Amino acid sequence: ETEEKVDVLVIGAGPSGTVAAAILHKNGFNVKIVEKQKFPRFVIGESLLPRSMYNFDKAGFIDTIEKAGFQKKYGAKFADKYEVCDFDFSSQFSDGWTWTWQVKRDRFDHILAEEVIKRGIALDYESEVTAVRFNEDGSSVTQVKKENHTSNIHARYIVDSSGYGRVLPRLLDLNEPSKLPERSSFFCHVKPKEVTSDKERMRIIIIVYTCDIWGWVIPFADGTSSIGIVGSPDGVHRYKGTKEEQMRKWIAEIPALQERFTDCEMVFEPRTITGYSSEVKKLYGNGYVLTGNALGFVDPIFSSGVTLATESGALAAELVTDQLDGKAVDWEKDYSEYIISGVDVFKTFVNAWYSGDLQKIFFSESPNEKIKQQICSVLAGYVWDNKNPFVKKHDRALSNLAKIVSS
Ligand code: FAD
Repeated sequence: ETEEKVDVLVIGAGPSGTVAAAILHKNGFNVKIVEKQKFPRFVIGESLLPRSMYNFDKAGFIDTIEKAGFQKKYGAKFADKYEVCDFDFSSQFSDGWTWTWQVKRDRFDHILAEEVIKRGIALDYESEVTAVRFNEDGSSVTQVKKENHTSNIHARYIVDSSGYGRVLPRLLDLNEPSKLPERSSFFCHVKPKEVTSDKERMRIIIIVYTCDIWGWVIPFADGTSSIGIVGSPDGVHRYKGTKEEQMRKWIAEIPALQERFTDCEMVFEPRTITGYSSEVKKLYGNGYVLTGNALGFVDPIFSSGVTLATESGALAAELVTDQLDGKAVDWEKDYSEYIISGVDVFKTFVNAWYSGDLQKIFFSESPNEKIKQQICSVLAGYVWDNKNPFVKKHDRALSNLAKIVSS
């Protein structure tokens, strides 16, 4: 066993953890990240939103990501059998970044992890947090296992960015069942027979299959694409056969996939994640804060995951800085309420999607340009812009609009 002492321990080296660590390091703290897996490692969550660029910028990551040559994302299309509704982030209501990237997360997360190491942050891969003990003053001792070795990390503060691992929610019994119905996702990366870099073809598409089953296409710079099917578990897994056979049936079933991906090569065997929506009882406690997926996940439909992960990672880092500098921090108001208010806007949009209201709005005959721009800003991740009625009055604005367009 070894003993180690740091100011802040960050659990997990996904985007939430590396953004938090980079900001804390910049603010002068001795930070350590422990990461369970060896990088590069696969994780789903490939379509970013423009709002996340603020957080990558605060962490000083923009140049590093830019140099890696990821596919730029300028908008997204929603399509049903008959109509296409294209959202272009350059035509939106809120001020701010109007583009972002669509990325393979194994490489993306690895680049950010190596960048923080380059800056002098200690990052231990293949190191798993197995136990945590808190002292009354909020300081803690975390047990980390790497192969047969155990280290005890003494920290003044813990930022839990462990994603689907949800380390502190598990150890401190903070998990809450999600109020959203259980849904399933089935996805893989594919290489089409015909590789194209046509601008139109590089646009992300969300395809409506039925009201509660939809698919995604996320093209990458290297010519491969991520494709996925999401919806009720029975609906998504309706086909028999091997995973590859099931995915080929989905490709044959949905014209927008069939046209591009018939006879494609599958880069890996299709995978499934079910029951990914999650919540916690509280987002912080004495000596710790939860960020990113460790504090919850809503739904993949609007690609909100990495944006919420980086927003919470960046904000947590600034508040931990204040706290360790001896300033008073109102965690309830400045962290919890802020993050939950953004999550709630996405939740309203997610519920409106699966109820069919949003689809009615997206595919209505004469969309109002101003309203479209306001909705576009939410889809770009600007869910804290209270000047936008679809943020400020999100619960009523969408259902009222759905009634108007269907009357
Ligand atoms: P992660 O990226 O999951 O990183 C957490 C890290 O913690 C991991 O590397 C893990 O190994 C490590 N860890 C876990 N346990 C331990 C432990 N005990 N000790 C040490 N380390 C540990 N989001 C988007 O933005 N866009 C999308 O298009 C999108 N699509 C999605 C599609 C589906 C089907 C699903 C289910 C999710 C999707 N998401 C999407 C959400 C996205 O996957 C997550 O929101 C995002 O990865 C969260 O980032 P994070 O940094 O919080 O966690």
